[in-house]
Order: sequence, then C-alpha cells, then structure tokens
Amino acid sequence: MQSFVYDQPATRVIFGVGSLDRVAEEVKRLGAKRAIVLSTPEQRKEAEELAHDLHELSAGVFAEAVMHVPIETARAAREEAKRRDADCYVAIGGGSTIGLGKAIALESGLPIVAVPTTYAGSEMTPIYGITEAGDKKTGKDRKVLPKTVIYDPTLTLTLPPRIAGPSGMNALAHCVEALYAQDANPIISVLAAEGIRALARSLPVVVREPNNLEARTDALYGAWLGGTVLGAVGMAVHHKLCHTLGGSFNLPHAEVHTVILPHAAAYNQEAVPEAMHVVAKALGSKSAAQGIYDLAVRIGAPVALREIGMPFDGLDRAAEIATQNPYYNPRPVEYEGVRQLLDDAYYGQRPA
Ligand code: NAD
Repeated sequence: MQSFVYDQPATRVIFGVGSLDRVAEEVKRLGAKRAIVLSTPEQRKEAEELAHDLHELSAGVFAEAVMHVPIETARAAREEAKRRDADCYVAIGGGSTIGLGKAIALESGLPIVAVPTTYAGSEMTPIYGITEAGDKKTGKDRKVLPKTVIYDPTLTLTLPPRIAGPSGMNALAHCVEALYAQDANPIISVLAAEGIRALARSLPVVVREPNNLEARTDALYGAWLGGTVLGAVGMAVHHKLCHTLGGSFNLPHAEVHTVILPHAAAYNQEAVPEAMHVVAKALGSKSAAQGIYDLAVRIGAPVALREIGMPFDGLDRAAEIATQNPYYNPRPVEYEGVRQLLDDAYYGQRPA
C-alpha cells in the first residue's frame, strides 16, 4: 500500500517560444519596480537586450556571474543592486547565473525571475551553493527558489552541441536519481520518467540539428522536469560522486554528470530493479546503464573521466571522500564498490 509525503514548493512557470517577451509583465506581477539583470560575461549581450526591453523597470545589468558562485561576486552583485535601488533580480543564463541570483536572494530576500538558457535545472530548486576561500558550501532554503521561471526555447538555440549534450545529461541524472530517492513519491516518479523520455528523444536531434526549435523545446521541457524532480526529492550516490569530483578535482559540472551516470545506474541496478526498469523503458533500452551510456555516445558527449581532466592518481582519494560522510543510496556506498565504479568511469567502459 502506498504511503508518501509530497511537498513541492510552488514556482510559477511560463514555458514556450517567445515567452521572453513576458519578463516585464512577470516582474510587475511580483510587485517589483526595478529589476537588475544578472548574466555571465559571455551572455552580457542577451542580458543587455533584456534590460533594454524592461524599459523603466530596468535597474541595469550585472554581467559577472561565474562558475561556483564565489562569495566576492555575490557580495559585489548585492552591493550593486543596493546602489541601484533594485527590488528584484532577473537571472538569464545557466546554473552559474541562477546560482548567483540565489546567493543574493539568500541574504536580501528579494525575488528572482529566472530565465534559464541551459538544462541544469537550478531554477526549480531551493538548493544554493557559495564558494568561500575555495570551499563550496551548499544549502537548502526556500527563500532562494525563483518566484517565476520563464522558459523560452529560443534562448537555447545558441547553446552549442558540446555544451547542450552534457547539460541534457545533467538533467537526465536528476530524473534517474529521483526514481530511487529516499523520499521518492509517485507524482515525482511520473515526472522523472516523462523527463527521461523527453531528453532521450530530443538530445540526439539537438546535437545533430542545433537549429531545430522543436527538439530544443522538447529538451527544455525535459530539463524543466529534471529541475522539478531535483527540487522535490533527495539525490543519491551519483550526485554525491559528481559533487566530489567537481569540488575536489575541479572537473566540469555537466561533463562529470555525463560520465558518471551510466556507472551509478549500474552500481544501483540490483538494489532498485523496478526504478531501473522505468529508466530503461523510458530510454527505449533493455538496460538502464547501457541505455544511458549509449545516449551519451550518440550525442558525442564525453564518456571517460580521463577525457575531462581527472588525474588517475586522484581516484583513490575521490573514492575516500565520496564514502566518508554517510549519504542515502539504495545500495550501501562502500569504498570497494565506489573505487571500481570510478575505475570504470575513468576508462569510459560501457557498463556490462
Ligand atoms: P553555466 O551556467 O556555468 O554555463 C556554462 C557556459 O555556457 C557559460 O559560459 C554560459 O554563459 C554559457 N551559456 C549558457 N547558456 C547558453 C546559451 N543558451 N548559449 C550560449 N552559451 C550559453 O553551466 P550550467 O551547466 O548551466 O550550470 C552549472 C552550475 O550550476 C554548477 O555550478 C552547478 O553546481 C550549478 N547547478 C546548481 C543546481 C542547483 O539546484 N542549485 C542545479 C544544477 C546545477
């Protein structure tokens, strides 16, 4: 008999081609009068165009978002917002830019309108990360959850296949782990399976035909589902390993997710066969782990840790760090098994 807790914080979501035109309306809807637009230096142009379209609602642009949200950047953005009398943040970009918005909201409490341009999914979660003196601390606070998220697939057309593929695999990882989360529930599992189907059918088209707006729309739909499930339930060994490898070895975020996911699925296969059956079916494959691996190969994404900068002599330490703090996973997270997983991932072997 079923028994579960479903506790999903609400976010208003506007999805569809052309929805970028609705940012001003949504800022007003929050009762805000002056919005500062956040972006990375690479996406300054998009941020400036958006600020221009906001007319009198614009408090200008802060285009200094970088990976891992250094505390100095968050402080500088907060100061700038105060100086310009801003009462709202519009974050246009990927997880790094939205992460900056969250770090500011954590102290200021001001509302965020997120306009995601990758598939990372941060816009749908109350999880934040801030890096101080080289140490990335993460936490959970509903204050940082964007009030409104505007998904315009047009913005993802510029996402090159080499970023789009791994970013989509990052979204896939949220869906896969949601299916065997400690607090998994039937609603979130339905969303996760739908996310896997959407990503599996769209990502190969996205990388083959980057201008295919229909495939871009489908991929962003899958990414939204990935973000939603990530915000709703806890993650397990896959995310733990990715945080370890990203944090301690500075490996690129989305690529680490791509490489580890097939091996994390293989690791958990026997502990959660039903969840893995859902994954395999949604991928149109006989095996979850092989289906994920084959998808990564098909979209030209990396499959080996050695391809993305992992030093061989760091594998022991990575296994030690990942198994140090107990963390929920359906199969116990033990050194031997994790070390073997990392070995397979290092060489990029197709799971058996
Ligand atoms: P990112 O935000 O770092 O973006 C990578 C690069 O792609 C940047 O240079 C960016 O400007 C560029 N870019 C983004 N969208 C583009 C587009 N449409 N066209 C062209 N270039 C574009 O990468 P990411 O993978 O989105 O985010 C990774 C970060 O997000 C990590 O720090 C990760 O920890 C965090 N994250 C947090 C959560 C959460 O819930 N808190 C969830 C997922 C990821």
